[in-house]
Amino acid sequence: MKSFCVFWVLCGFAAAAWALDREAFTITKYDLAITLEPEQQRLGARGKITLRNDSAQPQKIAALQISSSLNWRSIRVDGKPVQYVSQPYMSDIDHTGVLSEAIVTLPIEIKPKDSVELEIGYEGVIPLDTTRLTRIGVPEEIAKHSSWDQISPSFTAVRGAGYVAWYPITTESADFSEGNSLFEVVDRWKQREVGSQFEALLSLPGEDAEGPPTVLCGASGGGSAEYGRPWSAFTPCDLKRLGTVTPTFVVAKYIALSKSPLSVFSFPGHEAGAATYSSALEPAMKFVTGWFGQPTVPIAIADFADPNSAPFESGTLLMASLAAEDSKLAGINLVHELVHSALPSPRPWVYEGLAHFAEAMYRQEQGGRQAALDLLGLHRAAFLDSEKEISAAQKSAGQPLATTFDETYYRSKAAYVWWMLRDMVGDDALKQAISKYRAEDDRNPKYVQQLIEAAAKRDLGWFFDDWVYQDRGLPDFRVQSVHPWKTENGVQMITVTLENLGSAGAEVPFTALFEGGEITKRIEVRAKSTATTRMELPGKASETKVSEIVVNDGSVPEIDLTNNVFKIDAQQK
Ligand SMILES: [Zn+2]
Repeated sequence: MKSFCVFWVLCGFAAAAWALDREAFTITKYDLAITLEPEQQRLGARGKITLRNDSAQPQKIAALQISSSLNWRSIRVDGKPVQYVSQPYMSDIDHTGVLSEAIVTLPIEIKPKDSVELEIGYEGVIPLDTTRLTRIGVPEEIAKHSSWDQISPSFTAVRGAGYVAWYPITTESADFSEGNSLFEVVDRWKQREVGSQFEALLSLPGEDAEGPPTVLCGASGGGSAEYGRPWSAFTPCDLKRLGTVTPTFVVAKYIALSKSPLSVFSFPGHEAGAATYSSALEPAMKFVTGWFGQPTVPIAIADFADPNSAPFESGTLLMASLAAEDSKLAGINLVHELVHSALPSPRPWVYEGLAHFAEAMYRQEQGGRQAALDLLGLHRAAFLDSEKEISAAQKSAGQPLATTFDETYYRSKAAYVWWMLRDMVGDDALKQAISKYRAEDDRNPKYVQQLIEAAAKRDLGWFFDDWVYQDRGLPDFRVQSVHPWKTENGVQMITVTLENLGSAGAEVPFTALFEGGEITKRIEVRAKSTATTRMELPGKASETKVSEIVVNDGSVPEIDLTNNVFKIDAQQK
C-alpha cells in the first residue's frame, strides 16, 4: 500500500512540475504496413511516422496514442529502442472512450520546427464498441448505428481519428459530455494534419476457397492479390494530404459493379439497390460535368452489413446502405461524390461546400426551387444554434468558413453560401468562375472571391467578409415599412423598406402578394442596415392591393424566421 501511495505522490509531483504538451508534435508523415486478420478481429501495424515539433519549446517527450484495444509493441529511433511508458488515457476521440498512450522519451531534444522519425509497432483487436456513446446515456441499439466501426469476419469497416485511432495520433483528451470539446479536439487535429501525408499498405492473408474479399481504403480498392491458397490481398491507402479526409478501410465479400468512374460494392441481396446507383450515374455525370468539369478520380459506394448504419464518406468513398432502392437519394449521393472527383480543393468549404451545393442544384433540376430549398433547409439546423450564440454575444471569434474545420460549417453553412452566390451572380458567371478554379492556384484566401468577381463583374468583398473571412452570425430580416402610392399616370406602386437586424449582410428575395398574383424582387441589405426599393404592380391601380410582403424564401439562412411576413391590411387598420 505504501509503495502505491509513493507512486501516486511522485506522479502528482511530476505532473505539476512538468506539464506534458500532448499537441506539441504534429505527425507529418505516416508510412505503415497494416496486416488485417478479420477472423481474429486483429490488426497489426509496423512502420514509420515523422513527428514535427510545432510548439515554441524544445521537446524531449512525445505522447503517441492509439485505440485502447491496441497495444504498443515497439518504438525505435535510428534503429534503437527508445524508452516509453504505456498508459490508458481517457478520451472520447476513440470509440472505446480510452486511448493506449505511449509517453516516449526521445534520445535528443527536438527543437521547434525540427522533426524526428520513429519506427513503430502495435497490434490488437478492433471489435464493435459503443462505450463513448452508451456512457453518456445513448441506448446501445441506437449507438451501434453510428458507432459501427469494427473488424469482424463478415464485415470490417474502420474509420480513423475521431472514430478509431487505428494509426497514432497526438491529442489532448476529448470529452463527449462537455459541450463541444470532442469536436474541438477533432477539428484541431484535422487542422494540424492538413498537410500531412498518409500512406499505408493494407494486407489480408487468408486461405478460404472463395478467395480474397474486397479490401478498400478510400475509393481505391483491390490493389493486387496473390491467388492460390493461401492467398493475400493488398490495398494501398494513399493520401497526399490528410485534412478533412479520414483514412478508412473496409473489408467484405462484396459483389462489385463497375461503370467508370463509379464502383458499387454491395452485399448479396442488395443488387437492386446497387443497380439504382448504376442507372442514376449517367444523368448525374452529365449534370456534374456541366457545372464542375469532367470527373476524373474513381468514386465508390460501399454497402453496410447493418442497413441502419449512418452514412460516412472518406474522400470519394461513400459508405451507405444499399438495402433499399432509392433512386432520388442515389442521384444526390452520386452528384456529391462526382463533384469531389471533378473538383479537388485543399479548402474544406470549397471541397465539401460545393458538393452539398451541387446536391441542392440537382434537386432543383428534378423537383424545382422549393425542393432544393427544402434540402438546404435540412442543413440550417446544424449551424443555427452556434450562429445564434455568435449573434447574441457579438463576439468576433466564431468559425470563419475560410479556415474552419468544423463539419457543420464547411458542409452546411458553405452549401448556403454557394447557393447565395449563385442567386446573386447567376448560373453563367458562377459556372465560369468554377471552371477557372484550380486547386494548385488556391493559395490566397481571396482566390475564390477574385474568380467570382471577375466572372460576375461585381464587388463581392462585403459578402465574403460577412460570410467567408469572418463569422458574423446570420442576418435577421424584417419588413420595416410598406407604402402604396400612385404615379402621375395612375400606375400603382409600393415602396418597401427592409431591415437587417443581424451582423451579416445578404441579398435577399422578397415577394409581394396580391389578389391574383405575386411579384418577387431581390434586394441587398447589409448588416445592421435598411434598404428601400420600389415595385410596380400590374393591373389597374384601384384593383391591385398588396396583402402581404414575405421576405426570404429560405435561400438565405437567418436567425429568426418568425418576423418575415408583413400583413398589410392588419397594419393599416
Ligand atoms: Zn463530401
